[in-house]
Amino acid sequence: MNKKILKPEDAADAATGCVRTGGCDFSADGRMCEALDRVGVPKDAKWRTLILYMRGLQEYTYLTGEQKVQVQQLLVEVLQNRDFSEESYQHILERDRQILVAPYEQRLNRAMQETASLAEEFRNLMLRRKGEVEHLETASIDAVVSGKEPEEVVAMLKKTFHDVINVMERDAAAMTELTQRDPLSGLHNRRAFDEFLQDSVTMWRKKDVPLALIMLDIDNFKNFNDEFGHRIGDQAIRTVAKILQDAVSTLVGKRDTDVLVARYGGEEFSIILRGQFVVKAEELAEAARTSMEAFNFVIRNNDGEVVRSGIRITLSAGVAYASKAWRGAFEDNLIDSADSALYEAKRQGRNLVCKYLEGKEGEDRFEIIGS
Ligand code: GH3
Ligand code: MG
Ligand code: MG
Repeated sequence: MNKKILKPEDAADAATGCVRTGGCDFSADGRMCEALDRVGVPKDAKWRTLILYMRGLQEYTYLTGEQKVQVQQLLVEVLQNRDFSEESYQHILERDRQILVAPYEQRLNRAMQETASLAEEFRNLMLRRKGEVEHLETASIDAVVSGKEPEEVVAMLKKTFHDVINVMERDAAAMTELTQRDPLSGLHNRRAFDEFLQDSVTMWRKKDVPLALIMLDIDNFKNFNDEFGHRIGDQAIRTVAKILQDAVSTLVGKRDTDVLVARYGGEEFSIILRGQFVVKAEELAEAARTSMEAFNFVIRNNDGEVVRSGIRITLSAGVAYASKAWRGAFEDNLIDSADSALYEAKRQGRNLVCKYLEGKEGEDRFEIIGS
């Protein structure tokens, strides 16, 4: 095979679209084709489509910076190696697939780990309780053969069963609590959020208990991940969770059952307030925002030494209240209202809290809180 060594700049030209000739439009003047010819890419559509497709991925906003760099490196590698066999084609497709699904696989792995640790917890409980069930059996036999009065035997049996039921109920409560927590942040998870919101909407509709929702989102978190990596990104998520919990503890108290702080998903958080604490919603959102803004996020090495400090993370938030104007889909309406206020806070420059106000004609209006 004619395998001339390809100059790196030619490979880079074909990978990026012949930048040296001042940008290239494949369909307009065929310069992209010339670049591909020059690096020896076969003329068949299969290879050209693959290369253009990989090049096009650079424009996709849903890919992380890291994924784009990896695709770009793969592309340069393909053009340098000049192995245009079927085997190489399949191999490249597979590597491209791996790059694209990596974030999804990370999330899937996290979910699998969560499930595995729940299953392990459950198995351990079963093993611990097996002993107690066996004890129940011997205690029951002992009671029956003890020769005591029937009333006494029944009382002994009742007590033994009660003891076992009590520990099982405690176990069940502990397991339920586990299924309601997000393992990364320690906050309530989306499942717990959905249930709490549904209950709160019912209380609001049936008993007029006031209801508010705050949606918060880390600003420019994609850039943060691209700069510092996902592991540090995960630490940032834990920090935000702690800031939110502290703000709630300060303003509403530690163990109040009328407030729920949850990780809504990804880098989004939510706080539901009902009853007397609804009046604190805006103050709480603003307190979380300012406290996050002032927080000095540091990165430590494995020995615990600070290797970088002064990193700022900011939050944007949207606040909304349940409205009598809604005719149905109350949960969705509340989430959409808080979401649109959050979107407005982003639009107005981020690191802001924005309140949703319903206009007379039902149109969306917003108000910036604080700052
Ligand atoms: P904006 O200010 O508009 O919210 O910009 P953004 O970059 O924060 O928003 P975008 O939705 O573009 O990106 C969200 C990022 O959050 C992308 C994703 O990698 C990151 N992310 C979501 N969940 C996690 C997680 O569990 N861990 C880490 N490290 N990153 C996450
Ligand atoms: Mg987001
Ligand atoms: Mg964000």
